[in-house]
Amino acid sequence: MNKKDLIGTDPKIAQTLEKELNRQRSGIELIASENFVSQAVMKALGSIGTNKYSEGYPNRRYYGGCEFVDEIENLAIERAKKLFNVDHANVQPYSGSPANLAVYYALLKPGDTVLGAKLSFGGHMTHGLKVNFSGSLYNAVNYTSDKNGYLDFDEIRSLAKEHKPKLIIAGYTAYPRIIDWQKFREISDEVGAFFLADISHIAGLIIGEQHPSPTRIADVTMTTSHKTLRGPRGAMILSNGKVSNSNKPVELSKENIPTLIDRAIIPGLQGGPHNHTTAAIAVALQEAMQPEFKDYAKQVVLNAKALAKSLTAEGLELVTGGTDNHLMLVDLTSTGVTGKEAETALGEAEIFVNKNTVPYDKRKPTDPSGIRLGTPALTTRGLKEDDMEIIGQLIAKVINNAKDSSIKEQVKKQVKELTDNYPLYPDLTYL
Ligand SMILES: *Cc1c(COP(=O)(O)O)cnc(C)c1O
Repeated sequence: MNKKDLIGTDPKIAQTLEKELNRQRSGIELIASENFVSQAVMKALGSIGTNKYSEGYPNRRYYGGCEFVDEIENLAIERAKKLFNVDHANVQPYSGSPANLAVYYALLKPGDTVLGAKLSFGGHMTHGLKVNFSGSLYNAVNYTSDKNGYLDFDEIRSLAKEHKPKLIIAGYTAYPRIIDWQKFREISDEVGAFFLADISHIAGLIIGEQHPSPTRIADVTMTTSHKTLRGPRGAMILSNGKVSNSNKPVELSKENIPTLIDRAIIPGLQGGPHNHTTAAIAVALQEAMQPEFKDYAKQVVLNAKALAKSLTAEGLELVTGGTDNHLMLVDLTSTGVTGKEAETALGEAEIFVNKNTVPYDKRKPTDPSGIRLGTPALTTRGLKEDDMEIIGQLIAKVINNAKDSSIKEQVKKQVKELTDNYPLYPDLTYL
C-alpha cells in the first residue's frame, strides 16, 4: 500500500467510494438527471487543472501562468459554440443553479418579475421557488400545465400579459414532451421579456438531434453539463451577439447579452474557474461531436419509449400517456402506493428512481403521487429496448408488492443478473 495513494491517505473515503462504485455497478440507475461519464472525462476531472487560479477569461486573466488553461478553456468554448450553434459560450458556471443566478444577475434587477414553471409542474427551484433566490429576490410568477400534464400556452400567455415579466423561462426537470420554443419566443416578444431556455435535462438530446434546439430562438440558453450531455458536474451559458472589448458599462440589450453574462459570472458572482471541470467539459463536448453520440441520443429516446410501453402494459399510468424524450412520470395514484413508498421499495430492489409530483398532485412534494424515470444512464451502459421491457416488469412487480420483502429480494437478484451483463468501469477500484 502506497501511503500517498487515496487508500493509504484516507482509507475511509476510499472504502466508501468503492461502496458507491459497487452501488452504481449493481443497480438499475433510472434517475433522469444522472449519467455515467467516460474514463476520459474522469481523467480530465481528476487532473492538475484544480491547482490553478485563472480568474477572468482567456487572454484576460488576473493571474500569470494561464497559457495552458487558456487553451483548455478556449477548446471548451469553441466546441460548445460549434455543437450548440451559438456566437458565445461561457463555460465557467460552477453548476446549473449558479448559472441561472448569473442569468438573472445579468438581465434583471432585484424585484423584477420572472415567469417560470412551478416546481410541482417540472420547473426547477431556480425558476421562481419562494425559498430559492429566484423567488425571494425576484417577483416570481409560476405557470402550471393543463390537466393532462402538457404545457398550457393559453395560461402562460395570459400570465405574461397580466404580470409583464422581464424574463420568461422554459425548460424543465420532469417534462416528458417536446418543448415548443417558438411559442415561448412569441409570448416573450408580446410582453417585451427576455427568454431563457434552460436545457439542462435535454442538452444531449438536442446535440443528438432528438429535440429541437432553442439556441437561436431564446435570448439565453443555459445547460448543465452532467445530465444527458454526459460530462462533469458544471454548466454553460450560451448566447448570441458579441463580447465588448472594453471595460465600460454596456446597456441592457439583446446584442450585449454575451458581455452581460460574462460580467455576471466574474466579477459578478464567481471567482476562479474550476479548470479541471473545464477540461472535463471540453472532453465531454469532444465526445458529443462523434457520430456515436447521436446513436446514444437516439437510443436514449428509444429506450424511454420502450420503458413507457412496458410500464403501461403492466397497468401503470404515465403523465401525458408516454414520452417524447428521455424521461417519464408515473402517476401512482391508482396503485395505493405513494411516490415516496415506491422510491423506497424500488431502492430496496436496487432500482434507483426519485419521487416526483404529478400535475395537480393532491399530495405534498415531500411525499408526492408519482415517480420520475429516465433512461440516459442505462443507455450509456449499453442497455436496449428488450432490457427496458424487463425493467418495466420489475418496477411494476415491486410497486404491486411494495411491502413484500421476499419479492423485493427476488427482484434485486434479477436486477444484479441484468446489470452484470453490462460491466461498468471494469478496471476501476479505489482500494
Ligand atoms: C439540473 C437542473 C438545474 C440545476 O443544476 P445543478 O447543477 O443541480 O445546480 C437547473 N435547471 C434545470 C431545468 C435542471 O434540470
